[in-house]
Amino acid sequence: MRTDIKKKIKGTVSILGAARSGLAAASFFSKMNIDTLISDTCNEEKLEKILSENNLNKVTYEAGRHTEKILESDLIIISPGIPSDLQIIKKARSLGIPVWSEIELGYRVSSAKFLAVTGSTGKSTTVSLLGEILKRSGKEYATAGNIGIPVISKVPSMSENGYVAAEISSFQLENIDEFRPLGAAVLNLMKNHLDRYDSEEEYYNAKKGIARNFDKENCLILNALDNRLMDWAQAMKGRTGIILFGKDLPGFDCFWCEDNLIRYRLGNTERTIIDTDDMILKGEHNCLNACAASALAKIAGIDDSCIRSGLSSFTGLSHRLELAGRFNGIEFYNDSKSTTAESVCVAVSAFRNVHLIAGGRDKGCDFSVVNDAIRKHVKSICLIGEAAGRMYKVWNGIAPVYCETTLESAVAQALSRSESGDTIVFSPGCSSFDMFKNYEERGNRFKEIVNDMTGGPENE
Ligand code: ADP
Repeated sequence: MRTDIKKKIKGTVSILGAARSGLAAASFFSKMNIDTLISDTCNEEKLEKILSENNLNKVTYEAGRHTEKILESDLIIISPGIPSDLQIIKKARSLGIPVWSEIELGYRVSSAKFLAVTGSTGKSTTVSLLGEILKRSGKEYATAGNIGIPVISKVPSMSENGYVAAEISSFQLENIDEFRPLGAAVLNLMKNHLDRYDSEEEYYNAKKGIARNFDKENCLILNALDNRLMDWAQAMKGRTGIILFGKDLPGFDCFWCEDNLIRYRLGNTERTIIDTDDMILKGEHNCLNACAASALAKIAGIDDSCIRSGLSSFTGLSHRLELAGRFNGIEFYNDSKSTTAESVCVAVSAFRNVHLIAGGRDKGCDFSVVNDAIRKHVKSICLIGEAAGRMYKVWNGIAPVYCETTLESAVAQALSRSESGDTIVFSPGCSSFDMFKNYEERGNRFKEIVNDMTGGPENE
């Protein structure tokens, strides 16, 4: 344990937010016999139900609002869904009460080494690739973090020989203190979450927080195709180790995609790791994700054959360019996790003759970044949801654009325009909340519709 948590907390700890990570933190403290207050803005009935479902009936709670009771605690754990600039949080900080994200808590109470992945898109895919590589290497490991498995639910049982492949969001990085992963990959910086940050700069700075405690023993793995990350690499040079990844890279210490190969150069060693045709994952973006995962694996001392084996056996995650069906020579891909314009761009670029279905709740993305890819890869576009109007204005004229009111009618529309050899890609580029509970529900609905229309997988 990096921090003796029992010594640190003499009285109570407050947990803000009774969602997945908050509940996992509460279970941890309850096992440690540390008094905990769970504070959530949902109503009392709902909170009681959540607590009882998670065997936390004995934990003290407050529902409806976060009260000043929080300020009586020795430590506050804040859930990523809660803005860090709440008045009560500002007050806590001014009183000197530490405010940690669950990632910081996980780091403090474990001795395992962390390999972190952050960025705007590709985090879950990259961290899962890394998990697969760690598995193949035979090392003690866990895949956790923003991917939906709280770090604190995994690390207490891990030894100092273990590795945590940790997916980390900008919200979690807002509340770290001593967190210092051995290596951290920043995949990309895209315009995102402008509903929560005042400016792009503020969002990028939150991401850069991942290296705030880095020194020469650590390594930053940065995407050389991103100018802002290259500027940052310059600024960090000399302070910490740096490995770049991208396409056809010259220079030392880099991983890159060249033709169909993933190659690397570290010191005087230059090698090929894998032919990307041997990977199940599709698209150039996934080759870049594989470069980042391979670089992190190298930091953990994993040899090339285990990296190759992990990269080739990984089948991909649900709702990320997931094959949903085949019908009359037409393929259907579910990319419901795509909530940014850049994700739409990489999704359509992974195929030829695409009929794109997009739209949902507008997050303020710049949809014109997809224009070139639409020109090259897209035959028709069908739009749904609140962002349809704005997307229509940007894309109409580049490809034929149709608007529909439901996902079902959008799939029917796309299918009616498709012929054998075409691909229907559902890559919304928006959040799901205008029509669905979350992106999983949205993707599952798409898969159901495809299943109904095509008569199920037996017709594939
Ligand atoms: P995150 O966890 O950061 O949201 P995911 O791996 O879940 O990322 O992928 C989310 C979406 O982004 C998917 O639609 C996927 O196809 C797309 N994507 C994955 N990797 C990248 C990348 N390197 N660059 C751009 N888009 C990507």
